[in-house]
Amino acid sequence: MSFDTQILKSGQGVSLGATIIRDGGLVGMPTETVYGLGANALNEEAVKSIFVAKGRPQDNPLIVHISSVDMLDELVYDDGLARRLFETFSPGPLTIVMKKKDIIPNVVSAGLDTVGIRIPAHKAARDLISQSGCPIAAPSANISGRPSPTTAQAVYEDMAGKIPLIIDGGECAIGIESTVLSIVDKPIILRPGAITPKMLEEYLGEVGVHRGEVSIATSPGMKYRHYAPKCDMYLSSSIEETKCLYDRYISIGKRPIVLALAENVDSYIGMQYLNLGDTMDKVMHNVFEYIRVAEKVADVIICDSVEETGIGASIMNRLKKAASKYEDK
Ligand code: AMP
Ligand code: MG
Repeated sequence: MSFDTQILKSGQGVSLGATIIRDGGLVGMPTETVYGLGANALNEEAVKSIFVAKGRPQDNPLIVHISSVDMLDELVYDDGLARRLFETFSPGPLTIVMKKKDIIPNVVSAGLDTVGIRIPAHKAARDLISQSGCPIAAPSANISGRPSPTTAQAVYEDMAGKIPLIIDGGECAIGIESTVLSIVDKPIILRPGAITPKMLEEYLGEVGVHRGEVSIATSPGMKYRHYAPKCDMYLSSSIEETKCLYDRYISIGKRPIVLALAENVDSYIGMQYLNLGDTMDKVMHNVFEYIRVAEKVADVIICDSVEETGIGASIMNRLKKAASKYEDK
């Protein structure tokens, strides 16, 4: 099916969006992390169409978004821990993986007996859920494998013609996807995000962090390549390496661009660069958007590395994946 994709601001967008969700359709929706591609999580056909629109492999599970902790008991088995964590960290960028109840179709969880649940902080997302009257399953609203969209325009780039509506809720405040925490066994972070291990450890004691690839049985979503720009991308580990690569690309007639940390830009005078910002929060906010800007004007992106501590580790997780196509060659 082909759609004349509309972009509407939050107010109007939410009421039309709720009608579309109730009718089994798809809506591009803002959240504070990245934009989501939402459908009624309890409608199997609607959820299947998310996979089609994104070109997403069927064994990559979706996150179910709820508007309040009161929706939890209908969807998952919780001995009280998830509720307590949500009361502390939500609404916000924390997804909790728990044992699912049968009401959640297997297509949502990609056949796993667990499901990730999140309460988004963006008001338009919560309004959309409550006006729709159902939990909303939503992965990021990009074509599978592309950088996550953090503006309504970026959703349009990937989803025009494939969905009827994008709700424009402005730039995503955070800019990278939620922290995914499994509490099925010992607490373990499956995907790092703005909620760091340290923040969780205050409430949970020791929290494991998954590094690298996971077996398919644990988290199918983690085995796929992600976030890749249309052009090549290289993750540089020093100013010298960035400059050296830049010169080399220029010498072979390519158009490089640097995604630069603010503290490094004085070294990049005369080069084409985008300034990612002078704090980790700004870098996190800008990273996906600037990859999408850069791929339009360059043949190769050379990105500065950030220090792998706190949210820097979450940013580097995305950057390494975004650059991995290049490294694999
Ligand atoms: P995205 O589709 O980009 O929004 O990311 C959703 C991610 O959440 C997936 O790719 C998985 O890594 C993770 N996830 C969702 N549900 C589960 C689950 N039941 N078990 C493990 N990981 C999950
Ligand atoms: Mg995604």
